[in-house]
Amino acid sequence: MLEQSLVPKTLNPVGETTKTTCPYCGVGCGVLATPVADEQGKISIDIKGDPDHPSNFGRLCSKGSALGETVDLDGRLLYPSINGARSDWETTLKLVADKFNDTIKKHGPDSVAFYVSGQILSEDYYVANKLMKGFIGSANIDTNSRLCMASSVAGHKKAFGTDTVPGTYEDLEHADLIVLVGSNLAWCHPVIYQRIAAAKEQRPNLKVVLVDPRRTMTNDLADLHLAIRPDGDCALFSGLLTHLENNKNLDQNYIDNYTNGFDVALNMASNLSLENIIEQTGLSADEINQFYTMFAETQKTVTVYSQGVNQSVSGTDKVSAIINCHLATGRIGKIGMGPFSITGQPNAMGGREVGGLANTLACHMDLENEDHRNLVQTFWDAPTIATSQGAKAVEMFDKVASGDIKAIWIMATNPVDSLPNSSAVEAALEKCPFVVVSDVVEHTDTIRYANVKLPALAWGEKDGTVTNSERRISHQKAFLSAPSEATSDWWQMCEVAKHMGFATAFNYTNVSEIFKEYAALSAHQNNDTRDFDIGAYADIANDEYETLKPFLWPLTKDTAQKGNIISNHRFFAQGNFYTTDRKARFIAVEAKQSEVTEFSFPLALNTGRVRDHWHTMTRTAKTPRLSAHMAEPFCEIHPKDAQKYKIQEAGIVEVESAIGAIRVRALITDRVQEGAVFVPLHWTDQYASNGRVDKLVPPVLDPFSGQPAYKNTGVIIRPFEAKTYGFAICRELPKEINAPYWAKAKCIGGWRIEFAFAKKQDTSNLITNILGLKKDDANISFEDETSGIERFVWFNKEQAHQMEAAIFVAPTPVEVSRSWAVDLLSTRHEDPQERFRIIAGRPSQDVPDKGAIVCSCFFVGANEIADAVKAGNISVQAIGKCLNAGTNCGSCKSEISQIISENQAIAAE
Ligand code: SF4
Repeated sequence: MLEQSLVPKTLNPVGETTKTTCPYCGVGCGVLATPVADEQGKISIDIKGDPDHPSNFGRLCSKGSALGETVDLDGRLLYPSINGARSDWETTLKLVADKFNDTIKKHGPDSVAFYVSGQILSEDYYVANKLMKGFIGSANIDTNSRLCMASSVAGHKKAFGTDTVPGTYEDLEHADLIVLVGSNLAWCHPVIYQRIAAAKEQRPNLKVVLVDPRRTMTNDLADLHLAIRPDGDCALFSGLLTHLENNKNLDQNYIDNYTNGFDVALNMASNLSLENIIEQTGLSADEINQFYTMFAETQKTVTVYSQGVNQSVSGTDKVSAIINCHLATGRIGKIGMGPFSITGQPNAMGGREVGGLANTLACHMDLENEDHRNLVQTFWDAPTIATSQGAKAVEMFDKVASGDIKAIWIMATNPVDSLPNSSAVEAALEKCPFVVVSDVVEHTDTIRYANVKLPALAWGEKDGTVTNSERRISHQKAFLSAPSEATSDWWQMCEVAKHMGFATAFNYTNVSEIFKEYAALSAHQNNDTRDFDIGAYADIANDEYETLKPFLWPLTKDTAQKGNIISNHRFFAQGNFYTTDRKARFIAVEAKQSEVTEFSFPLALNTGRVRDHWHTMTRTAKTPRLSAHMAEPFCEIHPKDAQKYKIQEAGIVEVESAIGAIRVRALITDRVQEGAVFVPLHWTDQYASNGRVDKLVPPVLDPFSGQPAYKNTGVIIRPFEAKTYGFAICRELPKEINAPYWAKAKCIGGWRIEFAFAKKQDTSNLITNILGLKKDDANISFEDETSGIERFVWFNKEQAHQMEAAIFVAPTPVEVSRSWAVDLLSTRHEDPQERFRIIAGRPSQDVPDKGAIVCSCFFVGANEIADAVKAGNISVQAIGKCLNAGTNCGSCKSEISQIISENQAIAAE
């Protein structure tokens, strides 16, 4: 239930549902949002999956299901400010326009930049791109999507001539073999995972191969897991190309009629011997052969790839090596076949389509193509047009650091946390003369460097379109009114553009006018010379936009006139690529051994997402249920490495690279290989003392795409030799937490805090530093000098049954059930005797310890699931029946399945 004072106003009456789209990952699920009232009239937002949306058919994952818990106004940025002082929109936007104009006048158009985001909507993106490229005359606009899929864009353009995703999600259900490369679908694209799992249940002959250095939760689906060495993918797929040729599995007709360059690509691939492939991939000859045979023998094959492929120094080459195998077998654009890049963000694809990257124009046109530039400039009636590539994300902040860029506008993203070498990004922003940040959140690690803060609309308040990974454009609709002075991103940019002197070109009165212009540009002088054409909507009326249904592009005017609105278009089954000769290009890929990490940094650091958090947690950390799954930053370490580097389970570990160091919790597991570690990307200074993993990642880039290599950084680990460990829960969070290691997370009724100190602490000081409370005010306490264990509990002075805080301190990692402890905040403690149980640090015997939360929808813990398995419930369905776990969003099914495997032997005894 939302706290009433913080509830934004709903646009619809109670009970009236809005069809909208999830703002998280690139699956792009349809969502039904309905305001509901309880008996006291309190409003909350009920969220369900949209059964009519063709991307999810009613499914939602844990993040999507919890969206209703994230729309309160707690922590929101609600009014514009200049240098920390509240301002009004007119003054603020005029200042932004004047500063940009002055800077351009003195230093030229390339002295300013926009850094935008896959979180903004296509209409926002379109306006930003138009202003920067057509009116300011620079291509210094780039997006955080550069960090997640730029290598796929580069690989597509090299092979197809355009950035085209050939297939659709349906192909995954029609395939007989799905190869998942560097893609943890179970956690990062859960609804795609669920669609594949459902298809596999119906057709057990559907085989899945997982190519990933880690044994992720997605392995639950896999018939074969190839635990490849980081960056061994080029060798694996180059070897596959040779295997296909050697075994006569090629589609010679397709190669001859629709492609160029096969021989050169094959010659390059043939340079690799099996020994080279074994060496570069770390796989056995058997594993390699098994995979090659499966691929060669299965016509209906889809290769899905995401960040494990893209975020690499050889990301574009990996994409090319994968596409080569599909072109060589003619497995592209046909039902159940094709290479398939799955994007990370909700509108990464939309950003690509509008030209939100520094090296593209608009509507999939090319910045370096003079005809395209002329077409766009004329269509926009623009005074100028950028003629060469602008600064890509990492280069953009290098230019801020060097002073070449003197004014930057950052929209809906948090580069201080998400760019590599993030400490350098922080330093660059600190000395940049003019930084504008538009965001929905008042406190982020980036906004603290803003001269001007612009409050933007959040999900539920903003309105526009997004494109998902299968080219499906959906309406993300508002169902809440704009809170306080927050406004849409497109409005802010148009107002700045008007103040800069470009009123006519940015005089939109609503978002549908922008979409209409965008659709018209996509069709302008197109005639199938460009893939992106949504000309069917070039004359869209405002009320038609209001009810816009999800559709796949292309959707040309002609198609629409034939009444074929819900098209299911696939590209390239019969060639017709967007190169000059309309043929695809094979790309010769030189598979090289990945750089050997320096001796002093012997472990390969991999970074990525966890199941229930999104990016820098500005939204997901608001909800206790999403924070329950993983409550602090951690480092997965193989047991042998843990032994070698003297890391104890649940201890604190320091992870250090050549450029920085962080402190996180140690999680010892054989899910990672020996010699490798994994740290999630989500934690920021807002939620942990020192958990920003991108401080460790150097700015090493793919040479074609400019995408950073986040998946293979040399690091060393060492124990943080703590003498004091602790865990606390509290209703009110103190202003500051003072400890060399801390991490906080929301829980029902309050907050949970983990902490550690290098030295033994004076207890009174420790309590003040962590909770801001006084030791002497504690109602119950326990101090044992021999064991060093100390525990204190505070109750409400007026309502004695209500616990306010508790702290558990020990010289070793605190062994207190976290799920039991956080429940104490929402429990009535009527019996004074029972209150002493809190000091015991464990539930009474009739209240079993749930263990770590696995199912966040029903708060079911790992111990409960294990006990149910031991009692004979040895299928995910049986666990669902007996505990409800996995029966709502289903995101935890892969973890339940793993707990079943681990405990099945015990059950069978
Ligand atoms: Fe949102 Fe989950 Fe669907 Fe992704 S899979 S769009 S996060 S509901």
